[in-house]
Amino acid sequence: MSVNKKRRSGMRTAFIAMSLGLATATAAVRAQDTVAVSPQHEMVINAITADPKFQAAVAELGREHDQWIANIIELTEIPAPPFKETARAEVYADKFRELGLTNVKIDSAGNVLGLREGSGDSERLIVVSAHMDTVFPEGTSVEVRREGDRLYAPGVGDDSTGLVTQLSLINALNVAGIATPDDILFVGTVGEEGLGDLRGVRYLFNEGEYKDRISAFYSIDGQSESGFTTGGVGSKRYRLTFSGPGGHSFGAFGLVNPLSALSQAVMNLYSIPVPSTPKTTYSASVVSGGTSVNSIPRDVWLEVDMRSVSASELAKLEQAFLKGVDAAVAAENAARSTAEGEIMVEKKVVGDRPAGETDPNSDIIAFTTAAYMSEGITPEYSSGSTDSNVAMSLGIPAITIPRAAEGDRAHSVDEWVGIEKTGAVKIRKLDLLSILAMAGYQR
Ligand SMILES: [Zn+2]
Repeated sequence: MSVNKKRRSGMRTAFIAMSLGLATATAAVRAQDTVAVSPQHEMVINAITADPKFQAAVAELGREHDQWIANIIELTEIPAPPFKETARAEVYADKFRELGLTNVKIDSAGNVLGLREGSGDSERLIVVSAHMDTVFPEGTSVEVRREGDRLYAPGVGDDSTGLVTQLSLINALNVAGIATPDDILFVGTVGEEGLGDLRGVRYLFNEGEYKDRISAFYSIDGQSESGFTTGGVGSKRYRLTFSGPGGHSFGAFGLVNPLSALSQAVMNLYSIPVPSTPKTTYSASVVSGGTSVNSIPRDVWLEVDMRSVSASELAKLEQAFLKGVDAAVAAENAARSTAEGEIMVEKKVVGDRPAGETDPNSDIIAFTTAAYMSEGITPEYSSGSTDSNVAMSLGIPAITIPRAAEGDRAHSVDEWVGIEKTGAVKIRKLDLLSILAMAGYQR
């Protein structure tokens, strides 16, 4: 995952006034959204924390802490490069089976699914997930090194620890004998990172066997002692190939030139006004092409990155950008001779992560906020690019919750995750508390 700068919010009064942290380092603060935690939400959280079974589950989280660490090492050391998650998926599916999940399978996208059936006839299904892929190419050493309260290895935190935290939660539910009214589907997803483009979670929502039943979605990804992710930064990336007849720079002078059209397309992009709140950005990022210095090029290409925390702003920007590209091509074809052929443009989407945000008045944010408050923490809300983006874009309540209290240097070979017991167990407890409330326990 990647997460934007956090912004603190929330006050304890009769209600919690909260504003989602959709701001970034430079963006202005969004208007406040209010009233997320009602006395009913607090009552459910209080009932769960007072429940002896929940207390037994928390005790188990502490008791099996060393197993959590051992599992992190085991899973981290099974390489899972982009598009090559299979080896890890097979081991993970076995762990789901050992924990007694039912209907355990690897779906057509490569996601590992395991169901923890609810006690009643609730139609609701809560998805809890973590991603199996890492950003590291094949051949990267993934051996884990332990130093004090830290484990070091590429991918050790992101998201091996998320996968293992999931196992830890299932085990605690089992040991404590907790049955939830709603079904909980546990998932190890593929393709969260980079060009994976969220393909695992997309499949889950668009084609997967549970796609019509998903009531809420959790991604366990990232680390924090004090908050969770409620907004998804969307991105759209294009590779444009402009082509034309080409020709001699001197002899064929006057023919249309694809580089001229490309340049105009960049100028048109850079004249599009975008809001700073919700933060919306664009970048003409990579350019290449041409034949030789004394030729009118046949082909040139350009890569463009556009982002927004708002789905509608991102869509508006994309439309304006595409219009500008077409206008640039038309202008070039009008400005010079097309006797040998016209300028054409191929527009290829090379990245598409939907933006979205979860309604601040949704149960999932209210319960999780109440859970943090029960531990004396006023949560911080952040936005990022995670598996939750897909759920958020579909209007399904979703948040990304931490796998651990501490960690850093994700996506680098110096990555580490904190394994200090008190902090790590508290995070797993908060995750469990939120999930149980959403799955209808003690409601
Ligand atoms: Zn991640």
